[in-house]
Amino acid sequence: MRLSRYFLPVLKETPSEAQIVSHRLMLRAGMIKQASAGIYSWLPLGFKVLKRIEQIVHEEQVRAGHIPMLMPTLQSADLWRESGRYDDYGEEMLRITDRHGRDMLYGPTNEELITDIFRAHVGSYKDLPLTLYHIQWKFRDEVRPRFGVMRGREFYMKDGYNFDLTKDAALHAYNRHLVSYLRTFERLGLQAIPMRADSGPIGGDDTHEFLVLAETGESEVFYDSAITDLKFGNRAIDYDDVDQCRAVLEEFTARYARTDETHDESVFAEVPEDRRRRARGIEVGQIFYFGTKYSDAMGATVVNEKQERVPVHMGSHGIGVSRLVGAIIEASHDDRGIIWPEGVTPFHCGIVNLKQGDAEADAACDQLYAALTARGLEPLYDDRNERAGGKFATMDLVGLPWRITVGPRGLKSGVVELTSRRSGESVELTPEAAVARIAEIYAAI
Ligand code: ATP
Ligand code: MG
Repeated sequence: MRLSRYFLPVLKETPSEAQIVSHRLMLRAGMIKQASAGIYSWLPLGFKVLKRIEQIVHEEQVRAGHIPMLMPTLQSADLWRESGRYDDYGEEMLRITDRHGRDMLYGPTNEELITDIFRAHVGSYKDLPLTLYHIQWKFRDEVRPRFGVMRGREFYMKDGYNFDLTKDAALHAYNRHLVSYLRTFERLGLQAIPMRADSGPIGGDDTHEFLVLAETGESEVFYDSAITDLKFGNRAIDYDDVDQCRAVLEEFTARYARTDETHDESVFAEVPEDRRRRARGIEVGQIFYFGTKYSDAMGATVVNEKQERVPVHMGSHGIGVSRLVGAIIEASHDDRGIIWPEGVTPFHCGIVNLKQGDAEADAACDQLYAALTARGLEPLYDDRNERAGGKFATMDLVGLPWRITVGPRGLKSGVVELTSRRSGESVELTPEAAVARIAEIYAAI
């Protein structure tokens, strides 16, 4: 993309309404614009990151054997009356009446809708296990929408639902989700720690929240610092292997790590003092096992091997896709702007032309652009007629992990400069070598 043809409305001033750095940077980098309280338009740059995250979430869900689908945003109140949650959900639910006077709502989550689909189409244990998921907009009329996309009213969520014959099978689905979430968050460049949490209005016994440590996080967390040494890495995992998934869960939940809702001082005191941490975190995902709560209420049953009708065991599992955009920035920025992890960056690298209009520099930039594109990479080429300082500031603000700087002086000796946004280090390379280096970096992730 040539910057002169793109829509990147960066702001010079720091917007006063933004209290935390990710919100400020998203506004300044022209990623979002508030439409009304807690509701945002995703401008091209923000939309690109959102889609990159969504893609990774999809890939990891499919890898775990989960099946993508799409449910609507608007739901009928009747289903929620069946589960008893129409009244329980309270004021966070946006209630709408259609022209026929029917009660509708903008879905805050989808347990009822998916259970309705299940009971209409599945009747036998032979069709199990089954995990369906979608990535769809949700609406919760939060009392205090704030921090930009981190606590919106309209937000984008991956929510998945497992259906299993027995509690044991459903617990495997739970473990499988935990493993796939560890992989997902690491691919997004984040360390998200599974912490024992409270199940809230969804109900149930087993639940973990995934938290990214950040001072601006809304959750108070308590953990054994040894947990931060754990890495999922590039392990080969067989998602059907019950023991393997359980072993990963055990490894990642063996250390003390809890949110304030489940925190227990007496258990925490057993952690060696120098490893006891009290911090803040951003909840980016949560997994639940809730047994037969919805299947009992809504009559979702299957016939088992003995031809008996039994309620199906369920769980639900969410990832805050739009919140993740903010969470990644909270975890990865400096005073000049965003620093995107390679896995989610909106463009793979920037090209800065130090002397726009200089025939040689322009031609070198065009060649770089073509060579990168030919390798399947997407550069953002700042081809505007602006001072070098302004171009660097824009690149630093939008946070592309790599920048190639092209100027007449370097070209005289046949080189361009490749700079890492994260370390600030630069190397001089031939244009061909710079392209090869960038291709190599992205091939490895
Ligand atoms: P919170 O405690 O932050 O209000 P929650 O526990 O109510 O979230 P879940 O029902 O677990 O949310 O939803 C799954 C995921 O959706 C959360 O882990 C979070 O990442 C995201 N999410 C929830 N509420 C919001 C919101 N208002 N804005 C953006 N993302 C959200
Ligand atoms: Mg939650």
